[in-house]
Amino acid sequence: MVQQLREQGTVRNYELLVRAQSGETRSIVVSMEPILYNAEECILSVFIDISERKKMELELQRSNAELEEFAYVASHDLQEPLRAVAGMVQLLQQRYQGKLDERADEYIGHTVEASTRMQNLINDLLKYSRVEQFGKPLAETDLERCLKNALANLQVSMQESNAQITHTPLPIVKADAAQLTQVLQNLIGNAIKFRGAGPLHIHIGAKKIKHNWQFEVSDNGIGIEPQYFERIFRVFQRLHTRREYPGTGIGLSLCKKIIERHGGQIWLESQPGAGSTFYFTLPERL
Ligand code: ADP
Repeated sequence: MVQQLREQGTVRNYELLVRAQSGETRSIVVSMEPILYNAEECILSVFIDISERKKMELELQRSNAELEEFAYVASHDLQEPLRAVAGMVQLLQQRYQGKLDERADEYIGHTVEASTRMQNLINDLLKYSRVEQFGKPLAETDLERCLKNALANLQVSMQESNAQITHTPLPIVKADAAQLTQVLQNLIGNAIKFRGAGPLHIHIGAKKIKHNWQFEVSDNGIGIEPQYFERIFRVFQRLHTRREYPGTGIGLSLCKKIIERHGGQIWLESQPGAGSTFYFTLPERL
Protein backbone atom coordinates (compact mmCIF):
# COMPACT_ATOMS: atom_id res chain seq x y z
CA MET A 1 0.00 0.00 0.00
CA VAL A 2 2.80 2.39 0.94
CA GLN A 3 4.62 1.46 -2.26
CA GLN A 4 1.47 2.19 -4.30
CA LEU A 5 1.19 5.58 -2.54
CA ARG A 6 4.83 6.38 -3.38
CA GLU A 7 4.57 5.27 -7.01
CA GLN A 8 1.09 6.53 -7.93
CA GLY A 9 0.56 9.35 -5.43
CA THR A 10 -2.82 7.95 -4.34
CA VAL A 11 -4.33 4.69 -3.11
CA ARG A 12 -7.83 3.69 -4.18
CA ASN A 13 -9.87 0.95 -2.49
CA TYR A 14 -6.95 -1.11 -1.24
CA GLU A 15 -8.29 -4.15 0.61
CA LEU A 16 -6.44 -5.57 3.59
CA LEU A 17 -7.08 -7.90 6.48
CA VAL A 18 -6.46 -6.54 9.97
CA ARG A 19 -6.42 -8.39 13.26
CA ALA A 20 -8.57 -6.50 15.77
CA GLN A 21 -7.73 -6.31 19.49
CA SER A 22 -10.35 -8.95 20.14
CA GLY A 23 -8.30 -11.31 17.97
CA GLU A 24 -10.94 -11.25 15.22
CA THR A 25 -9.83 -10.64 11.60
CA ARG A 26 -11.56 -7.68 9.89
CA SER A 27 -11.62 -6.70 6.19
CA ILE A 28 -10.69 -3.05 5.68
CA VAL A 29 -10.68 -0.98 2.52
CA VAL A 30 -8.27 1.96 2.43
CA SER A 31 -8.06 5.03 0.19
CA MET A 32 -5.33 7.69 0.50
CA GLU A 33 -5.03 11.05 -1.21
CA PRO A 34 -2.48 13.87 -0.70
CA ILE A 35 -4.18 17.18 0.25
CA LEU A 36 -3.08 20.63 1.31
CA TYR A 37 -4.21 21.50 4.86
CA ASN A 38 -3.22 24.88 6.27
CA ALA A 39 -0.67 25.10 3.43
CA GLU A 40 0.91 21.89 4.57
CA GLU A 41 0.88 18.69 2.56
CA CYS A 42 -0.92 15.89 4.36
CA ILE A 43 -2.25 12.46 3.39
CA LEU A 44 -5.99 12.13 3.79
CA SER A 45 -6.66 8.46 4.63
CA VAL A 46 -10.05 6.81 4.74
CA PHE A 47 -10.47 3.37 6.33
CA ILE A 48 -13.78 1.57 5.92
CA ASP A 49 -14.57 -1.67 7.69
CA ILE A 50 -16.28 -3.89 5.08
CA SER A 51 -16.26 -7.10 7.15
CA GLU A 52 -20.06 -7.28 7.38
CA ARG A 53 -20.49 -6.76 3.63
CA LYS A 54 -17.87 -9.44 2.91
CA LYS A 55 -19.60 -11.84 5.29
CA MET A 56 -22.93 -11.22 3.56
CA GLU A 57 -21.39 -11.71 0.10
CA LEU A 58 -19.88 -15.01 1.19
CA GLU A 59 -23.15 -16.09 2.75
CA LEU A 60 -25.02 -15.21 -0.47
CA GLN A 61 -22.52 -17.17 -2.57
CA ARG A 62 -22.85 -20.13 -0.23
CA SER A 63 -26.64 -20.09 -0.21
CA ASN A 64 -26.78 -19.70 -4.02
CA ALA A 65 -24.46 -22.69 -4.42
CA GLU A 66 -26.59 -24.66 -1.96
CA LEU A 67 -29.76 -23.76 -3.87
CA GLU A 68 -28.20 -24.86 -7.15
CA GLU A 69 -27.06 -28.10 -5.57
CA PHE A 70 -30.58 -28.66 -4.24
CA ALA A 71 -32.18 -27.98 -7.66
CA TYR A 72 -29.66 -30.32 -9.27
CA VAL A 73 -30.15 -33.19 -6.81
CA ALA A 74 -33.93 -32.80 -6.77
CA SER A 75 -34.30 -32.73 -10.54
CA HIS A 76 -31.76 -35.49 -11.05
CA ASP A 77 -33.38 -37.81 -8.50
CA LEU A 78 -36.90 -37.06 -9.68
CA GLN A 79 -36.02 -38.14 -13.21
CA GLU A 80 -35.78 -41.80 -12.28
CA PRO A 81 -39.25 -42.44 -10.74
CA LEU A 82 -40.82 -40.12 -13.28
CA ARG A 83 -39.33 -42.13 -16.12
CA ALA A 84 -40.96 -45.23 -14.60
CA VAL A 85 -44.37 -43.52 -14.25
CA ALA A 86 -44.22 -42.14 -17.82
CA GLY A 87 -43.19 -45.54 -19.18
CA MET A 88 -46.03 -47.32 -17.38
CA VAL A 89 -48.78 -44.95 -18.48
CA GLN A 90 -47.52 -45.08 -22.05
CA LEU A 91 -47.69 -48.86 -21.88
CA LEU A 92 -51.21 -48.62 -20.48
CA GLN A 93 -52.18 -46.37 -23.37
CA GLN A 94 -50.68 -48.67 -26.02
CA ARG A 95 -52.31 -51.82 -24.57
CA TYR A 96 -55.71 -50.53 -23.52
CA GLN A 97 -56.52 -47.59 -25.83
CA GLY A 98 -60.07 -48.23 -27.13
CA LYS A 99 -60.51 -51.34 -24.99
CA LEU A 100 -61.89 -49.63 -21.89
CA ASP A 101 -64.51 -46.91 -21.99
CA GLU A 102 -64.12 -43.43 -23.48
CA ARG A 103 -63.51 -41.84 -20.12
CA ALA A 104 -60.61 -44.22 -19.36
CA ASP A 105 -59.00 -43.26 -22.71
CA GLU A 106 -59.37 -39.61 -21.80
CA TYR A 107 -57.85 -40.08 -18.31
CA ILE A 108 -54.93 -42.09 -19.62
CA GLY A 109 -54.34 -39.50 -22.36
CA HIS A 110 -54.15 -36.69 -19.80
CA THR A 111 -51.77 -38.70 -17.61
CA VAL A 112 -49.44 -39.42 -20.54
CA GLU A 113 -49.45 -35.76 -21.54
CA ALA A 114 -48.82 -34.54 -17.97
CA SER A 115 -45.98 -36.99 -17.37
CA THR A 116 -44.26 -35.93 -20.63
CA ARG A 117 -44.66 -32.28 -19.62
CA MET A 118 -43.22 -32.98 -16.20
CA GLN A 119 -40.25 -34.77 -17.78
CA ASN A 120 -39.61 -31.71 -19.96
CA LEU A 121 -39.82 -29.38 -16.94
CA ILE A 122 -37.44 -31.52 -14.90
CA ASN A 123 -34.95 -31.83 -17.77
CA ASP A 124 -35.02 -28.04 -18.14
CA LEU A 125 -34.52 -27.52 -14.41
CA LEU A 126 -31.58 -29.90 -14.54
CA LYS A 127 -30.06 -27.95 -17.46
CA TYR A 128 -30.53 -24.73 -15.50
CA SER A 129 -28.89 -26.04 -12.34
CA ARG A 130 -25.93 -27.37 -14.35
CA VAL A 131 -24.85 -24.01 -15.82
CA GLU A 132 -22.36 -23.23 -13.04
CA GLN A 133 -21.33 -26.65 -11.80
CA PHE A 134 -20.98 -28.34 -15.16
CA GLY A 135 -19.87 -25.33 -17.21
CA LYS A 136 -16.53 -25.73 -19.00
CA PRO A 137 -13.66 -23.30 -18.30
CA LEU A 138 -13.80 -20.25 -20.59
CA ALA A 139 -11.57 -20.75 -23.63
CA GLU A 140 -11.04 -19.07 -27.02
CA THR A 141 -14.31 -19.55 -28.84
CA ASP A 142 -15.19 -18.65 -32.40
CA LEU A 143 -18.75 -17.34 -32.21
CA GLU A 144 -19.17 -17.82 -35.98
CA ARG A 145 -18.83 -21.52 -35.26
CA CYS A 146 -21.31 -21.35 -32.36
CA LEU A 147 -23.80 -19.59 -34.66
CA LYS A 148 -23.30 -22.23 -37.35
CA ASN A 149 -23.99 -25.01 -34.84
CA ALA A 150 -27.03 -23.18 -33.42
CA LEU A 151 -28.48 -22.72 -36.92
CA ALA A 152 -27.80 -26.37 -37.77
CA ASN A 153 -29.79 -27.39 -34.67
CA LEU A 154 -32.65 -25.11 -35.75
CA GLN A 155 -32.64 -26.23 -39.38
CA VAL A 156 -36.13 -27.76 -39.41
CA SER A 157 -37.92 -24.80 -37.83
CA MET A 158 -35.92 -22.39 -40.00
CA GLN A 159 -37.13 -24.15 -43.14
CA GLU A 160 -40.72 -24.41 -41.89
CA SER A 161 -40.87 -20.71 -41.10
CA ASN A 162 -38.96 -19.66 -44.20
CA ALA A 163 -36.82 -17.44 -41.99
CA GLN A 164 -34.38 -15.04 -43.61
CA ILE A 165 -31.34 -14.83 -41.34
CA THR A 166 -28.53 -12.30 -41.72
CA HIS A 167 -25.52 -11.61 -39.52
CA THR A 168 -22.47 -9.42 -39.20
CA PRO A 169 -19.09 -11.16 -38.67
CA LEU A 170 -18.91 -12.54 -35.13
CA PRO A 171 -15.71 -12.31 -33.05
CA ILE A 172 -13.57 -14.81 -31.17
CA VAL A 173 -14.18 -14.46 -27.43
CA LYS A 174 -13.27 -16.27 -24.21
CA ALA A 175 -16.33 -18.39 -23.52
CA ASP A 176 -17.83 -21.80 -22.99
CA ALA A 177 -18.62 -22.74 -26.61
CA ALA A 178 -21.48 -25.13 -25.80
CA GLN A 179 -23.17 -22.56 -23.56
CA LEU A 180 -22.84 -19.73 -26.09
CA THR A 181 -24.28 -22.00 -28.79
CA GLN A 182 -27.19 -22.62 -26.43
CA VAL A 183 -27.75 -18.87 -25.93
CA LEU A 184 -27.79 -18.17 -29.68
CA GLN A 185 -30.01 -21.18 -30.29
CA ASN A 186 -32.53 -20.12 -27.63
CA LEU A 187 -32.69 -16.51 -28.86
CA ILE A 188 -32.96 -17.42 -32.55
CA GLY A 189 -35.36 -20.27 -31.70
CA ASN A 190 -37.62 -17.79 -29.90
CA ALA A 191 -37.43 -15.33 -32.82
CA ILE A 192 -38.70 -18.15 -35.06
CA LYS A 193 -41.34 -19.36 -32.58
CA PHE A 194 -42.80 -15.93 -31.83
CA ARG A 195 -42.90 -14.76 -35.46
CA GLY A 196 -45.63 -12.56 -36.91
CA ALA A 197 -47.82 -13.10 -39.93
CA GLY A 198 -45.42 -11.56 -42.50
CA PRO A 199 -42.07 -12.88 -43.81
CA LEU A 200 -39.65 -13.45 -40.95
CA HIS A 201 -36.30 -11.59 -40.78
CA ILE A 202 -33.78 -12.31 -38.06
CA HIS A 203 -30.52 -10.43 -37.70
CA ILE A 204 -27.56 -11.32 -35.48
CA GLY A 205 -25.05 -8.53 -34.91
CA ALA A 206 -21.90 -7.85 -32.88
CA LYS A 207 -20.07 -4.65 -32.07
CA LYS A 208 -17.34 -3.66 -29.63
CA ILE A 209 -18.29 -1.04 -27.02
CA LYS A 210 -15.31 -0.08 -24.84
CA HIS A 211 -14.14 -3.34 -23.21
CA ASN A 212 -17.24 -5.32 -24.01
CA TRP A 213 -18.64 -7.10 -27.01
CA GLN A 214 -22.31 -6.32 -27.49
CA PHE A 215 -24.43 -8.79 -29.43
CA GLU A 216 -27.97 -8.52 -30.69
CA VAL A 217 -30.54 -10.92 -32.04
CA SER A 218 -33.41 -8.99 -33.57
CA ASP A 219 -36.65 -10.13 -35.19
CA ASN A 220 -39.80 -8.65 -36.70
CA GLY A 221 -42.10 -10.95 -34.74
CA ILE A 222 -45.02 -10.45 -32.34
CA GLY A 223 -43.00 -8.39 -29.82
CA ILE A 224 -43.41 -8.11 -26.04
CA GLU A 225 -45.13 -5.52 -23.82
CA PRO A 226 -42.55 -3.55 -21.75
CA GLN A 227 -44.17 -4.60 -18.44
CA TYR A 228 -42.98 -8.18 -19.10
CA PHE A 229 -39.34 -7.33 -19.90
CA GLU A 230 -38.10 -8.59 -16.50
CA ARG A 231 -40.54 -11.40 -15.93
CA ILE A 232 -39.62 -13.35 -19.07
CA PHE A 233 -36.07 -13.90 -17.75
CA ARG A 234 -37.40 -15.79 -14.70
CA VAL A 235 -37.56 -19.59 -14.58
CA PHE A 236 -40.72 -21.07 -16.14
CA GLN A 237 -42.30 -17.66 -16.77
CA ARG A 238 -44.18 -17.44 -20.07
CA LEU A 239 -46.64 -15.03 -21.61
CA HIS A 240 -48.63 -17.55 -23.64
CA THR A 241 -50.31 -20.88 -23.13
CA ARG A 242 -48.67 -24.11 -24.30
CA ARG A 243 -51.41 -24.47 -26.88
CA GLU A 244 -50.57 -21.12 -28.48
CA TYR A 245 -46.78 -21.64 -28.44
CA PRO A 246 -45.00 -24.75 -27.14
CA GLY A 247 -42.26 -24.41 -24.50
CA THR A 248 -41.56 -24.55 -20.79
CA GLY A 249 -40.32 -21.00 -20.16
CA ILE A 250 -36.76 -21.91 -19.26
CA GLY A 251 -34.99 -20.63 -22.42
CA LEU A 252 -34.38 -17.00 -21.45
CA SER A 253 -33.55 -17.77 -17.81
CA LEU A 254 -30.94 -20.20 -19.09
CA CYS A 255 -29.54 -17.47 -21.39
CA LYS A 256 -29.38 -15.05 -18.44
CA LYS A 257 -27.59 -17.53 -16.20
CA ILE A 258 -25.05 -18.38 -18.92
CA ILE A 259 -24.37 -14.74 -19.81
CA GLU A 260 -23.97 -13.80 -16.13
CA ARG A 261 -21.57 -16.72 -15.65
CA HIS A 262 -19.49 -15.09 -18.43
CA GLY A 263 -19.59 -11.71 -16.65
CA GLY A 264 -22.05 -10.16 -19.13
CA GLN A 265 -25.60 -8.83 -19.12
CA ILE A 266 -28.73 -9.56 -21.15
CA TRP A 267 -31.75 -7.35 -21.86
CA LEU A 268 -34.22 -6.50 -24.60
CA GLU A 269 -36.01 -3.79 -26.49
CA SER A 270 -39.33 -4.57 -28.06
CA GLN A 271 -42.53 -3.18 -29.47
CA PRO A 272 -45.64 -5.32 -29.51
CA GLY A 273 -46.49 -6.10 -33.12
CA ALA A 274 -43.20 -4.74 -34.49
CA GLY A 275 -40.53 -7.13 -33.15
CA SER A 276 -37.93 -7.62 -30.46
CA THR A 277 -34.18 -7.17 -30.11
CA PHE A 278 -32.36 -9.16 -27.43
CA TYR A 279 -28.95 -7.77 -26.48
CA PHE A 280 -26.20 -9.44 -24.50
CA THR A 281 -22.66 -8.45 -23.61
CA LEU A 282 -19.47 -10.39 -23.03
CA PRO A 283 -16.39 -8.78 -21.52
CA GLU A 284 -13.42 -8.66 -23.86
CA ARG A 285 -10.86 -10.95 -22.21
CA LEU A 286 -7.45 -11.11 -23.83
P1 ADP B 1 -40.40 -20.37 -23.88
O1 ADP B 1 -39.89 -20.01 -25.25
O2 ADP B 1 -40.29 -21.82 -23.58
O3 ADP B 1 -41.76 -19.84 -23.59
P2 ADP B 1 -38.45 -18.48 -22.87
O4 ADP B 1 -37.88 -18.33 -21.50
O5 ADP B 1 -37.48 -18.68 -23.99
O6 ADP B 1 -39.45 -19.67 -22.79
O7 ADP B 1 -39.31 -17.18 -23.19
C1 ADP B 1 -40.21 -16.66 -22.21
C2 ADP B 1 -41.31 -15.86 -22.88
O8 ADP B 1 -40.76 -14.67 -23.45
C3 ADP B 1 -41.97 -16.56 -24.06
O9 ADP B 1 -43.00 -17.43 -23.61
C4 ADP B 1 -42.51 -15.39 -24.87
O10 ADP B 1 -43.73 -14.95 -24.34
C5 ADP B 1 -41.47 -14.31 -24.63
N1 ADP B 1 -40.49 -14.21 -25.76
C6 ADP B 1 -39.21 -14.68 -25.78
N2 ADP B 1 -38.60 -14.39 -26.94
C7 ADP B 1 -39.49 -13.70 -27.68
C8 ADP B 1 -39.45 -13.10 -29.00
N3 ADP B 1 -38.37 -13.15 -29.77
N4 ADP B 1 -40.57 -12.45 -29.41
C9 ADP B 1 -41.68 -12.40 -28.65
N5 ADP B 1 -41.80 -12.94 -27.41
C10 ADP B 1 -40.70 -13.59 -26.93
